[in-house]
Amino acid sequence: MAEDYTKQIHRCFNCGYCKFDSTYSEFNCPSYVRFRFDTYSTSGRLWLINAWLRGEVQWDEHLGEILYTCVTCRNCAEQCIMRFSNDLVDWIIAARRDMMEKEQGKIPQRVGSFLEEIYRIGNPLKARMPRGEWADGVPGYSKGAEYLLYVGCLGSFDGKAREMAKSIATLLGLAGVSFGVLGDDEGCCGNEVRTLGEQTLFELLANNNIQQFRELGVRKVIAISPHSYHAMKNLYPALGADFEVLHYTQLLEQLVRDGQLKTRDTQAKVAYHDPCYLGRYNGIYDTPRQVLRGVPGLELVEMPRERQDAFCCGGGSGNFAMDLLEGSRDSPNRVRVREAYESGAAVLAVACPSCLTMLTSAVESEGLDDKLVVSDIGQILKQALVT
Ligand code: SF4
Ligand code: SF4
Repeated sequence: MAEDYTKQIHRCFNCGYCKFDSTYSEFNCPSYVRFRFDTYSTSGRLWLINAWLRGEVQWDEHLGEILYTCVTCRNCAEQCIMRFSNDLVDWIIAARRDMMEKEQGKIPQRVGSFLEEIYRIGNPLKARMPRGEWADGVPGYSKGAEYLLYVGCLGSFDGKAREMAKSIATLLGLAGVSFGVLGDDEGCCGNEVRTLGEQTLFELLANNNIQQFRELGVRKVIAISPHSYHAMKNLYPALGADFEVLHYTQLLEQLVRDGQLKTRDTQAKVAYHDPCYLGRYNGIYDTPRQVLRGVPGLELVEMPRERQDAFCCGGGSGNFAMDLLEGSRDSPNRVRVREAYESGAAVLAVACPSCLTMLTSAVESEGLDDKLVVSDIGQILKQALVT
Protein backbone atom coordinates (compact mmCIF):
# COMPACT_ATOMS: atom_id res chain seq x y z
CA MET A 1 0.00 0.00 0.00
CA ALA A 2 1.84 3.13 1.16
CA GLU A 3 5.11 1.20 0.93
CA ASP A 4 4.82 0.73 -2.82
CA TYR A 5 2.94 3.90 -3.68
CA THR A 6 5.69 4.78 -6.13
CA LYS A 7 4.47 1.94 -8.37
CA GLN A 8 0.85 3.03 -8.32
CA ILE A 9 0.64 6.77 -8.08
CA HIS A 10 0.64 7.25 -11.87
CA ARG A 11 -2.67 5.35 -12.07
CA CYS A 12 -4.68 8.46 -11.15
CA PHE A 13 -5.96 9.71 -14.52
CA ASN A 14 -6.95 13.17 -13.35
CA CYS A 15 -10.71 12.80 -13.81
CA GLY A 16 -11.29 15.10 -10.82
CA TYR A 17 -14.23 13.29 -9.17
CA CYS A 18 -12.31 13.36 -5.90
CA LYS A 19 -12.66 17.15 -5.66
CA PHE A 20 -16.44 16.92 -5.26
CA ASP A 21 -19.06 15.67 -2.86
CA SER A 22 -21.15 12.66 -3.91
CA THR A 23 -23.69 14.81 -5.80
CA TYR A 24 -20.90 16.40 -7.86
CA SER A 25 -22.43 19.79 -7.18
CA GLU A 26 -19.98 21.19 -4.60
CA PHE A 27 -16.20 21.18 -4.38
CA ASN A 28 -15.40 19.18 -1.24
CA CYS A 29 -11.60 19.01 -1.07
CA PRO A 30 -10.77 21.73 1.49
CA SER A 31 -7.39 22.69 0.08
CA TYR A 32 -8.79 22.94 -3.46
CA VAL A 33 -11.66 25.11 -2.19
CA ARG A 34 -9.14 27.35 -0.41
CA PHE A 35 -6.61 27.79 -3.23
CA ARG A 36 -8.57 26.95 -6.44
CA PHE A 37 -5.55 25.63 -8.31
CA ASP A 38 -5.65 22.04 -9.47
CA THR A 39 -2.30 21.33 -7.93
CA TYR A 40 -3.95 21.79 -4.50
CA SER A 41 -6.46 18.99 -5.28
CA THR A 42 -5.83 15.28 -4.77
CA SER A 43 -4.94 14.51 -8.37
CA GLY A 44 -2.80 17.65 -8.62
CA ARG A 45 -0.79 16.48 -5.64
CA LEU A 46 -0.48 12.94 -7.00
CA TRP A 47 0.77 14.26 -10.35
CA LEU A 48 3.22 16.52 -8.61
CA ILE A 49 4.54 13.67 -6.45
CA ASN A 50 4.83 11.49 -9.54
CA ALA A 51 6.79 14.18 -11.36
CA TRP A 52 9.12 14.39 -8.33
CA LEU A 53 9.56 10.61 -8.25
CA ARG A 54 10.47 10.70 -11.95
CA GLY A 55 12.98 13.48 -11.38
CA GLU A 56 10.98 16.00 -13.47
CA VAL A 57 10.61 18.56 -10.64
CA GLN A 58 12.69 19.42 -7.59
CA TRP A 59 11.01 19.96 -4.25
CA ASP A 60 11.19 23.49 -2.95
CA GLU A 61 9.40 25.05 -0.03
CA HIS A 62 6.44 26.09 -2.16
CA LEU A 63 5.92 22.58 -3.52
CA GLY A 64 6.34 21.32 0.04
CA GLU A 65 3.54 23.60 1.15
CA ILE A 66 1.27 22.20 -1.57
CA LEU A 67 1.97 18.70 -0.30
CA TYR A 68 1.21 19.72 3.28
CA THR A 69 -2.04 21.61 2.65
CA CYS A 70 -3.86 18.28 2.40
CA VAL A 71 -5.69 18.03 5.72
CA THR A 72 -6.18 14.23 5.33
CA CYS A 73 -9.98 14.66 5.43
CA ARG A 74 -10.47 11.57 3.24
CA ASN A 75 -13.15 13.10 1.03
CA CYS A 76 -11.11 12.03 -2.00
CA ALA A 77 -10.94 8.43 -0.78
CA GLU A 78 -14.72 8.51 -0.43
CA GLN A 79 -15.38 9.91 -3.91
CA CYS A 80 -12.65 8.48 -6.17
CA ILE A 81 -14.10 5.78 -8.39
CA MET A 82 -10.92 3.74 -8.76
CA ARG A 83 -9.97 0.56 -6.87
CA PHE A 84 -7.04 2.34 -5.24
CA SER A 85 -9.30 5.01 -3.71
CA ASN A 86 -8.75 3.75 -0.16
CA ASP A 87 -5.01 4.29 -0.51
CA LEU A 88 -5.05 7.91 -1.70
CA VAL A 89 -4.40 9.60 1.63
CA ASP A 90 -1.76 7.01 2.51
CA TRP A 91 0.03 7.86 -0.74
CA ILE A 92 0.13 11.53 0.23
CA ILE A 93 1.40 10.57 3.70
CA ALA A 94 3.99 8.23 2.13
CA ALA A 95 5.28 11.11 -0.01
CA ARG A 96 5.56 13.23 3.14
CA ARG A 97 7.60 10.46 4.75
CA ASP A 98 9.92 10.49 1.75
CA MET A 99 10.09 14.26 2.02
CA MET A 100 11.07 13.96 5.71
CA GLU A 101 13.83 11.51 4.89
CA LYS A 102 15.22 13.01 1.70
CA GLU A 103 14.26 16.69 1.57
CA GLN A 104 13.94 17.73 5.19
CA GLY A 105 15.16 21.28 4.52
CA LYS A 106 12.19 21.84 2.17
CA ILE A 107 9.35 21.05 4.54
CA PRO A 108 7.30 24.15 5.43
CA GLN A 109 8.54 25.98 8.49
CA ARG A 110 5.22 25.58 10.32
CA VAL A 111 5.35 21.79 9.85
CA GLY A 112 8.93 21.64 11.13
CA SER A 113 8.10 23.68 14.19
CA PHE A 114 4.92 21.62 14.92
CA LEU A 115 6.98 18.43 14.98
CA GLU A 116 9.86 19.98 16.87
CA GLU A 117 7.56 21.23 19.68
CA ILE A 118 6.13 17.73 20.11
CA TYR A 119 9.61 16.25 20.17
CA ARG A 120 10.92 18.83 22.66
CA ILE A 121 8.01 19.53 25.00
CA GLY A 122 5.39 16.89 24.13
CA ASN A 123 2.75 19.14 22.55
CA PRO A 124 2.52 21.18 19.32
CA LEU A 125 0.84 24.20 20.93
CA LYS A 126 4.02 25.61 22.47
CA ALA A 127 2.32 25.23 25.86
CA ARG A 128 4.73 25.20 28.81
CA MET A 129 2.17 24.85 31.62
CA PRO A 130 1.76 21.48 33.36
CA ARG A 131 -0.26 19.17 31.10
CA GLY A 132 -2.63 18.21 33.89
CA GLU A 133 -3.47 21.78 34.96
CA TRP A 134 -6.92 21.58 33.32
CA ALA A 135 -7.86 18.56 35.44
CA ASP A 136 -8.25 20.25 38.80
CA GLY A 137 -10.95 18.25 40.61
CA VAL A 138 -10.97 15.43 38.04
CA PRO A 139 -9.91 12.01 39.41
CA GLY A 140 -6.49 10.72 38.41
CA TYR A 141 -6.40 7.25 36.88
CA SER A 142 -5.76 4.53 39.42
CA LYS A 143 -5.43 0.80 38.79
CA GLY A 144 -8.79 -0.92 38.67
CA ALA A 145 -10.74 2.07 37.27
CA GLU A 146 -12.90 0.95 34.35
CA TYR A 147 -11.91 3.72 31.92
CA LEU A 148 -8.96 5.96 31.20
CA LEU A 149 -10.16 9.33 29.87
CA TYR A 150 -7.57 10.45 27.31
CA VAL A 151 -7.91 14.16 26.44
CA GLY A 152 -4.93 14.77 24.12
CA CYS A 153 -2.93 17.94 23.47
CA LEU A 154 -5.86 20.25 22.67
CA GLY A 155 -7.90 18.91 25.60
CA SER A 156 -4.94 19.63 27.87
CA PHE A 157 -3.89 23.06 26.61
CA ASP A 158 -6.45 24.82 24.38
CA GLY A 159 -8.94 27.02 26.26
CA LYS A 160 -12.14 25.80 24.51
CA ALA A 161 -10.99 22.18 24.32
CA ARG A 162 -10.15 22.21 28.02
CA GLU A 163 -13.75 23.22 28.74
CA MET A 164 -14.81 20.33 26.51
CA ALA A 165 -12.61 17.87 28.45
CA LYS A 166 -13.93 19.22 31.73
CA SER A 167 -17.58 18.86 30.63
CA ILE A 168 -17.03 15.25 29.59
CA ALA A 169 -15.28 14.47 32.88
CA THR A 170 -18.16 16.10 34.81
CA LEU A 171 -20.74 14.02 32.90
CA LEU A 172 -18.85 10.79 33.58
CA GLY A 173 -18.62 11.70 37.26
CA LEU A 174 -22.36 12.50 37.49
CA ALA A 175 -23.22 9.21 35.77
CA GLY A 176 -21.13 7.29 38.31
CA VAL A 177 -18.62 6.00 35.73
CA SER A 178 -15.39 4.61 37.14
CA PHE A 179 -12.68 6.59 35.34
CA GLY A 180 -9.56 8.69 35.73
CA VAL A 181 -7.16 10.88 33.72
CA LEU A 182 -3.38 10.83 33.44
CA GLY A 183 -2.91 14.58 34.00
CA ASP A 184 0.78 15.55 33.83
CA ASP A 185 1.70 11.99 32.83
CA GLU A 186 -0.38 11.97 29.63
CA GLY A 187 1.53 11.97 26.30
CA CYS A 188 0.64 13.06 22.75
CA CYS A 189 -1.22 10.36 20.76
CA GLY A 190 0.90 11.05 17.65
CA ASN A 191 -1.85 10.88 15.04
CA GLU A 192 -0.96 14.22 13.43
CA VAL A 193 2.75 13.41 13.60
CA ARG A 194 2.09 10.30 11.49
CA THR A 195 0.00 12.16 8.92
CA LEU A 196 2.79 14.73 8.57
CA GLY A 197 5.14 11.89 7.63
CA GLU A 198 7.18 11.57 10.85
CA GLN A 199 6.63 7.83 11.26
CA THR A 200 9.55 7.31 13.64
CA LEU A 201 8.30 9.92 16.10
CA PHE A 202 4.76 8.53 15.78
CA GLU A 203 5.96 5.06 16.74
CA LEU A 204 7.94 6.44 19.65
CA LEU A 205 4.89 8.30 21.02
CA ALA A 206 2.55 5.37 20.41
CA ASN A 207 4.93 2.86 22.04
CA ASN A 208 5.32 5.11 25.10
CA ASN A 209 1.54 5.32 25.48
CA ILE A 210 1.04 1.60 24.95
CA GLN A 211 3.68 0.75 27.55
CA GLN A 212 2.30 3.26 30.05
CA PHE A 213 -1.27 1.98 29.63
CA ARG A 214 -0.04 -1.61 30.03
CA GLU A 215 1.81 -0.80 33.24
CA LEU A 216 -1.29 0.90 34.62
CA GLY A 217 -3.51 -2.03 33.65
CA VAL A 218 -5.71 0.11 31.39
CA ARG A 219 -8.34 -1.99 29.59
CA LYS A 220 -10.62 0.70 28.17
CA VAL A 221 -9.77 4.16 26.85
CA ILE A 222 -12.24 6.97 26.17
CA ALA A 223 -10.76 9.41 23.65
CA ILE A 224 -12.24 12.89 23.41
CA SER A 225 -10.62 13.47 20.01
CA PRO A 226 -11.57 11.39 16.95
CA HIS A 227 -7.92 11.75 15.86
CA SER A 228 -6.67 10.02 19.03
CA TYR A 229 -9.56 7.54 18.76
CA HIS A 230 -8.49 6.64 15.23
CA ALA A 231 -4.80 6.26 16.10
CA MET A 232 -5.39 4.22 19.25
CA LYS A 233 -8.14 2.04 17.81
CA ASN A 234 -6.82 1.40 14.31
CA LEU A 235 -3.05 1.99 14.36
CA TYR A 236 -1.83 1.13 17.86
CA PRO A 237 -2.83 -2.60 17.65
CA ALA A 238 -0.12 -3.16 15.02
CA LEU A 239 2.34 -1.95 17.68
CA GLY A 240 1.01 -4.32 20.33
CA ALA A 241 -1.90 -2.40 21.94
CA ASP A 242 -4.71 -4.62 23.20
CA PHE A 243 -7.03 -2.18 24.98
CA GLU A 244 -10.54 -1.20 23.90
CA VAL A 245 -11.05 2.34 22.60
CA LEU A 246 -14.26 4.36 22.62
CA HIS A 247 -15.02 7.84 21.39
CA TYR A 248 -16.64 9.84 24.16
CA THR A 249 -19.94 10.17 22.25
CA GLN A 250 -20.24 6.37 22.24
CA LEU A 251 -20.14 6.26 26.02
CA LEU A 252 -22.47 9.27 26.39
CA GLU A 253 -24.97 7.60 24.08
CA GLN A 254 -24.96 4.49 26.32
CA LEU A 255 -25.32 6.58 29.48
CA VAL A 256 -28.29 8.50 28.06
CA ARG A 257 -29.91 5.30 26.77
CA ASP A 258 -29.49 3.59 30.16
CA GLY A 259 -31.00 6.57 32.00
CA GLN A 260 -27.75 7.41 33.83
CA LEU A 261 -27.84 10.92 32.34
CA LYS A 262 -31.26 12.58 32.14
CA THR A 263 -31.95 15.79 30.27
CA ARG A 264 -34.67 18.42 30.52
CA ASP A 265 -36.50 20.27 27.77
CA THR A 266 -34.01 22.46 25.86
CA GLN A 267 -35.25 24.56 22.98
CA ALA A 268 -32.39 24.91 20.51
CA LYS A 269 -31.83 24.49 16.80
CA VAL A 270 -28.62 22.54 16.40
CA ALA A 271 -26.59 21.48 13.35
CA TYR A 272 -24.06 18.68 13.81
CA HIS A 273 -20.69 18.81 12.05
CA ASP A 274 -19.28 15.33 11.30
CA PRO A 275 -15.56 15.17 12.18
CA CYS A 276 -13.58 13.44 9.41
CA TYR A 277 -11.78 11.08 11.78
CA LEU A 278 -15.04 9.93 13.37
CA GLY A 279 -17.15 9.86 10.18
CA ARG A 280 -15.21 9.05 7.04
CA TYR A 281 -12.39 7.25 8.92
CA ASN A 282 -14.54 5.22 11.32
CA GLY A 283 -18.08 5.24 9.97
CA ILE A 284 -19.56 6.78 13.14
CA TYR A 285 -22.35 9.07 11.98
CA ASP A 286 -25.44 8.13 13.98
CA THR A 287 -24.13 7.88 17.55
CA PRO A 288 -23.39 11.61 18.08
CA ARG A 289 -26.74 12.47 16.49
CA GLN A 290 -28.50 10.03 18.84
CA VAL A 291 -27.00 11.83 21.85
CA LEU A 292 -28.37 15.13 20.54
CA ARG A 293 -31.77 13.64 19.67
CA GLY A 294 -31.96 12.35 23.24
CA VAL A 295 -32.33 15.93 24.52
CA PRO A 296 -36.05 16.78 24.54
CA GLY A 297 -36.93 19.97 22.65
CA LEU A 298 -33.62 20.09 20.78
CA GLU A 299 -34.17 20.31 17.02
CA LEU A 300 -31.41 18.70 14.96
CA VAL A 301 -31.02 20.23 11.50
CA GLU A 302 -28.71 18.91 8.81
CA MET A 303 -26.37 21.01 6.72
CA PRO A 304 -26.45 20.35 2.96
CA ARG A 305 -23.14 18.47 3.24
CA GLU A 306 -23.26 15.87 5.98
CA ARG A 307 -22.06 12.38 6.89
CA GLN A 308 -19.78 10.98 4.11
CA ASP A 309 -20.10 14.32 2.29
CA ALA A 310 -19.37 16.55 5.28
CA PHE A 311 -17.05 19.45 4.48
CA CYS A 312 -13.94 19.32 6.69
CA CYS A 313 -13.20 22.16 9.14
CA GLY A 314 -9.60 22.24 7.87
CA GLY A 315 -8.02 21.27 11.19
CA GLY A 316 -6.69 17.82 10.29
CA SER A 317 -3.03 16.85 9.91
CA GLY A 318 -1.89 19.40 12.47
CA ASN A 319 -3.71 22.34 10.89
CA PHE A 320 -5.57 23.10 14.12
CA ALA A 321 -2.19 24.56 15.13
CA MET A 322 -0.39 25.29 11.81
CA ASP A 323 -3.47 26.41 9.83
CA LEU A 324 -1.82 26.33 6.40
CA LEU A 325 -5.26 27.03 4.88
CA GLU A 326 -5.98 30.21 6.83
CA GLY A 327 -6.40 33.75 5.60
CA SER A 328 -9.38 33.74 3.23
CA ARG A 329 -13.18 33.63 3.13
CA ASP A 330 -12.56 30.28 1.41
CA SER A 331 -10.65 28.86 4.37
CA PRO A 332 -12.56 25.66 5.17
CA ASN A 333 -13.54 26.58 8.73
CA ARG A 334 -15.14 29.83 7.45
CA VAL A 335 -16.96 28.04 4.63
CA ARG A 336 -18.29 25.52 7.12
CA VAL A 337 -19.62 28.02 9.68
CA ARG A 338 -21.42 29.93 6.91
CA GLU A 339 -23.01 26.66 5.86
CA ALA A 340 -24.09 25.98 9.45
CA TYR A 341 -25.52 29.45 9.86
CA GLU A 342 -27.40 29.24 6.55
CA SER A 343 -28.96 25.96 7.70
CA GLY A 344 -30.83 27.98 10.34
CA ALA A 345 -28.97 26.57 13.32
CA ALA A 346 -28.14 28.70 16.35
CA VAL A 347 -25.74 26.08 17.70
CA LEU A 348 -23.09 24.19 15.76
CA ALA A 349 -22.44 20.93 17.60
CA VAL A 350 -19.04 19.27 17.29
CA ALA A 351 -17.50 16.07 18.62
CA CYS A 352 -13.82 16.88 18.17
CA PRO A 353 -11.53 19.40 19.88
CA SER A 354 -9.87 20.31 16.55
CA CYS A 355 -13.25 21.13 15.00
CA LEU A 356 -14.14 23.08 18.15
CA THR A 357 -11.02 25.24 17.85
CA MET A 358 -11.22 25.74 14.08
CA LEU A 359 -14.94 26.52 13.92
CA THR A 360 -14.91 28.78 16.97
CA SER A 361 -12.25 30.98 15.42
CA ALA A 362 -14.17 31.02 12.11
CA VAL A 363 -17.34 32.26 13.83
CA GLU A 364 -15.34 35.28 14.95
CA SER A 365 -13.79 35.83 11.49
CA GLU A 366 -17.25 35.67 9.90
CA GLY A 367 -18.72 38.15 12.40
CA LEU A 368 -21.29 35.60 13.57
CA ASP A 369 -20.47 35.87 17.28
CA ASP A 370 -23.97 36.70 18.43
CA LYS A 371 -25.69 34.39 15.91
CA LEU A 372 -23.95 31.03 16.06
CA VAL A 373 -22.40 29.22 19.03
CA VAL A 374 -19.97 26.33 18.52
CA SER A 375 -20.34 23.81 21.29
CA ASP A 376 -19.26 20.22 21.75
CA ILE A 377 -21.81 17.49 22.44
CA GLY A 378 -20.58 17.06 26.02
CA GLN A 379 -21.16 20.75 26.78
CA ILE A 380 -24.62 20.66 25.17
CA LEU A 381 -25.56 17.62 27.21
CA LYS A 382 -24.18 19.09 30.41
CA GLN A 383 -26.22 22.26 29.96
CA ALA A 384 -29.39 20.21 29.40
CA LEU A 385 -28.83 17.89 32.34
CA VAL A 386 -31.36 17.28 35.10
CA THR A 387 -29.18 17.38 38.21
S1 SF4 B 1 -7.66 10.37 -7.44
FE1 SF4 B 1 -9.31 9.14 -8.38
S2 SF4 B 1 -11.06 10.54 -8.64
FE2 SF4 B 1 -9.23 11.78 -8.25
S3 SF4 B 1 -8.50 12.34 -10.27
FE3 SF4 B 1 -7.37 10.50 -9.65
S4 SF4 B 1 -8.58 8.78 -10.47
FE4 SF4 B 1 -9.92 10.60 -10.56
S1 SF4 C 1 -7.64 14.12 1.98
FE1 SF4 C 1 -9.03 15.90 1.82
S2 SF4 C 1 -7.66 17.68 1.67
FE2 SF4 C 1 -6.43 15.86 1.20
S3 SF4 C 1 -6.51 15.71 -1.02
FE3 SF4 C 1 -8.13 14.37 -0.18
S4 SF4 C 1 -9.98 15.69 -0.21
FE4 SF4 C 1 -8.21 17.06 -0.43
